[in-house]
Amino acid sequence: MTYCHNCKKHVDYTVRECTEDFELDGYRFSAVQRHAFCPLCGEELFPDEIADFSTEQVHEAFRVAKGSITIAQIRELLKKYDIGANPLSLLLGWGENTVDRQMRHSIPDRIHADRLKDLLYDPIAMYDLLYSGKDKISASAFRKALRAVYHCIENQTTIEDVPANKPVFYHKIEIILNASGCSLSNGTDLNPGNYVRTLKDDTTEMAFAS
Ligand SMILES: [Zn+2]
Repeated sequence: MTYCHNCKKHVDYTVRECTEDFELDGYRFSAVQRHAFCPLCGEELFPDEIADFSTEQVHEAFRVAKGSITIAQIRELLKKYDIGANPLSLLLGWGENTVDRQMRHSIPDRIHADRLKDLLYDPIAMYDLLYSGKDKISASAFRKALRAVYHCIENQTTIEDVPANKPVFYHKIEIILNASGCSLSNGTDLNPGNYVRTLKDDTTEMAFAS
């Protein structure tokens, strides 16, 4: 419902959706836009939720046009690896609030955006980042994210080299979690007997000091 000044009452507005072209900072792109209309007199109305939707669509399309990463993709990344914006920034060696800012007003440049996109689509890249930066974040944030990475690798079907690496990564993750006195989910997922143990030399290096 929103108020129609023409009809002088609140009305259930109707919504039309279309794709419109934009030019911003020298970038040309199109974005889905919504328009609301009064069902009684046909006047265009501007309820907040419609304006917010259209603004967000332009913002996201602009980020794509610049070769950057969308806010939706950053949210997906954080959710996928069960990690907060601040710990992820620290792992990446960026300022603590960088990813948070990138989800609000600042648009990451291509290098920063590509790094985030790599992580989004490659759980093994996330594993490498997480493991190499484990001292930069809290032990609980590390374990939470590692569990999420484990589940992603387990379900990964799109990256060709994952099947061959799977036992290796399962094994590494198992060692780290066991060393920190922590099991995966309810302890039901992991069956070490199923995985080839080829990383004997790495075992001590992998042990996680909690
Ligand atoms: Zn009206």
